[in-house]
Amino acid sequence: MPASSLNPAPEVLVLGAGPAGLACAMELSRKGRKSFLVERDAQIGGLAKTLTIREGEDVFLTDIGPHRFFSKNQYLYDFIEDLLQEEWRKVPRLTRQFIDGKFFDYPVKALQVFKNIGPVKSVRILLDYAMARLRFGLLKKPMVTFEDYVVANFGRTLAEFSMINYTEKIWGIPASTIHPDWARQRIHGLNLWSVLQKAIGLGSKKGPKSLVDEFYYPQFGTGRIYEEIARHLVETGTEIRCSSQPVKVRHDGKRVTSVDVETPDGVQTLNLQHLVEQCR
Ligand SMILES: Cc1cc2nc3c(=O)[nH]c(=O)nc-3n(C[C@H](O)[C@H](O)[C@H](O)COP(=O)(O)OP(=O)(O)OC[C@H]3O[C@@H](n4cnc5c(N)ncnc54)[C@H](O)[C@@H]3O)c2cc1C
Repeated sequence: MPASSLNPAPEVLVLGAGPAGLACAMELSRKGRKSFLVERDAQIGGLAKTLTIREGEDVFLTDIGPHRFFSKNQYLYDFIEDLLQEEWRKVPRLTRQFIDGKFFDYPVKALQVFKNIGPVKSVRILLDYAMARLRFGLLKKPMVTFEDYVVANFGRTLAEFSMINYTEKIWGIPASTIHPDWARQRIHGLNLWSVLQKAIGLGSKKGPKSLVDEFYYPQFGTGRIYEEIARHLVETGTEIRCSSQPVKVRHDGKRVTSVDVETPDGVQTLNLQHLVEQCR
């Protein structure tokens, strides 16, 4: 059926069925606004999808990287618990990076790093940290990027070794182009000093939030959150089209009026009032 003939026709076209697009459609649905989700990939979930890999009789489920769920927002926990029920489980955290043939915990553990990299690089890490504290602390150099934030808190050597390396792999963009709020959100309170304190058993028991030792995780992969949101959306009238993407957007100079969407069934024209697109 052509999407434009859906009854009642959707008002909003949401591009991308990753966590953000699905959350957007979910909120619209709660407010009684009908949306249409278009996903370029064959599977929903974006970077947070869970992949199914088959090898003969065996079936493996794997996420694209570790997906710790952590938020200060209780509404989110309640919402997902409601969706996943007993599948939503608390699990111990173990995140490691494989660098130069060795495993390193993430976020960094000072003693482990010093042991693995040897005394010369360890001294360099400490000197770099002292330099960074001088520049960003004493001389008040502003932190305008993610890179500045982690260099200020870990020194250049350790920042490049762990945080910058990891972040650039995840996001595919230079850490110097990411806003420092991203670091403040994720690793607030974490710095070489707090890591050293933890290593020798000092410091606050609660610790910075990235050091939380347990987190919630769906039993069959992080993608289950998004599959359940999608199922709920479809049940309540939202259409989700995978392997589809917009090819033409028409507007009247002020507003979007219609969008041509290429789907596996051919091009469909959607007459809409709003278009939601993610910025990168
Ligand atoms: C290795 C790794 C580890 C991570 N670990 C964590 C973690 O521990 N905790 C955490 O909270 N987050 C983690 N993340 C981040 C998390 O995956 C992202 O924050 C989240 O997926 C972002 O959701 P999004 O919807 O904004 O974007 P995406 O997940 O990128 O989804 C965007 C979707 O839009 C689709 N799309 C794009 N353009 C179009 C178009 N023109 N038409 C149609 N569809 C389009 C894409 O195909 C994609 O499916 C991790 C990410 C990675 C890669």
